[in-house]
Amino acid sequence: MQELFRRLPGVDQLLDEPFIQALMTALPRSLVLGAVRQTLDDLRDDIKKQAGDAGPPDLSRPAVLARIEKKAHELAQPSFRRVVNATGVIIHTNLGRSPLAEAALQAIETAGRNYSNLEFDLSEGMRGSRYSHVEGLLCDLTGAEAGLVVNNNAAAVLLVLETLSKGKEAIVSRGELVEIGGSFRIPEVMASSGAIMVEVGATNKTHLRDYEEAITDQTAVLLKVHQSNFHIIGFTEQVPVADLVELGRSKSLPVIEDLGSGSLVDFSAYGLIKEPTVQDTIADGVALATFSGDKLLGGPQAGIILGQKGYIDRIKTNPINRAMRIDKFTLASLEATLRLYLDEEKAIEQVPILRMITMSYRELRKKATALKRKLTPVAEGLAEVDMADGWSKIGGGALPVQELKTRLVRLLPFKITVNDLEAWLRLRPVPILGRIEHDRLVFDVRTMLKGDSDFLIQALTELAAKEIE
Ligand SMILES: *Cc1c(COP(=O)(O)O)cnc(C)c1O
Repeated sequence: MQELFRRLPGVDQLLDEPFIQALMTALPRSLVLGAVRQTLDDLRDDIKKQAGDAGPPDLSRPAVLARIEKKAHELAQPSFRRVVNATGVIIHTNLGRSPLAEAALQAIETAGRNYSNLEFDLSEGMRGSRYSHVEGLLCDLTGAEAGLVVNNNAAAVLLVLETLSKGKEAIVSRGELVEIGGSFRIPEVMASSGAIMVEVGATNKTHLRDYEEAITDQTAVLLKVHQSNFHIIGFTEQVPVADLVELGRSKSLPVIEDLGSGSLVDFSAYGLIKEPTVQDTIADGVALATFSGDKLLGGPQAGIILGQKGYIDRIKTNPINRAMRIDKFTLASLEATLRLYLDEEKAIEQVPILRMITMSYRELRKKATALKRKLTPVAEGLAEVDMADGWSKIGGGALPVQELKTRLVRLLPFKITVNDLEAWLRLRPVPILGRIEHDRLVFDVRTMLKGDSDFLIQALTELAAKEIE
């Protein structure tokens, strides 16, 4: 082992190599230096490990230089990258939720390249409010009196509770104490806001009288939370928001609803399960409703708060609001996305997640057939390519029990395991993420965007060439 350590080249010696010098003209010097150091560390680790079964690492000059080059190219890649989502989960929180509509992307570019009237009232020639750009639009689309937008829905819920029930009681059903995405839990958000949580009812059933009996002179709000990514079946009962509003009115208490996904489109018109829309909730008379910008709305990450003007005004002047404010890119892309909703047909056609949700089986079959045709010659000798029916999911906690019939393209690898194939595609410069099902890697064409299939073809072409070596 000592002999191997002695044979390791030094950093300075490597930096003098013409090959490394050349690499430093192509890539930043500091990055190449980092690659040299990390490669030497890796080699030292390999030498220590070889006591096991790994065998000694190749310390020849070309092998070491090749390792440094590979490491340098790895370090040169941005950490945050596009990926191909072939998982069939449309609003995939780990993969960035909603891809944006073309109009939203253009609005971001314009906002980024230029100055803007972000906080400038052009008609008065004086300081204006950033919220004014979308408030009117949100009210027109939903029937709300007023609204504002913060960083995300978690912030929206926190801000609403902090403003309305800090140090006071907020009543919530035990069936609605949900956890979303591992970091947002209703009881914890309530605790952070300073609201005192009063749980009522049972996990599966909560009645109106449960809320009524819990009301005291310390009660500030009645809270309703969308169950999002879980669903209770069997003997269940939750109080409809309209009944809660009526109870609230008789006791002069505001009802606030965390809608989670918050859709502006009634999906039952497209053959899916009925999910109350934001408009329905506002019409039911809630004081405030909150929802995400990047779930069923298909816009940027944002938390939208809509409702009665008196409450919205209190939220707007809460100093915490300043810490949760949205930036100009969110504002630009949110306004552009909302404008598409002025014509629902346009929204369905142009907001990517709406297009994916409403895509017909016929269209999916056509997309899958085209992909299979392109993959078959490329995958020759590598994997069997076929198609099967399957199910896509909406994701993001929206319509959790809704399954969408889809068409899958499947790869059954011959020489490597399906796990190795999955890893190979996942570790590409543009990673390709599918699902493993019955020893096959499956790609759901529903969530594959324009140009995605080219990355898959390129990856399989390279893998086939490597296999032949
Ligand atoms: C998703 C969700 C949230 C969190 O929204 P973010 O925009 O991710 O912060 C809060 N409440 C419910 C019910 C949700 O479904």
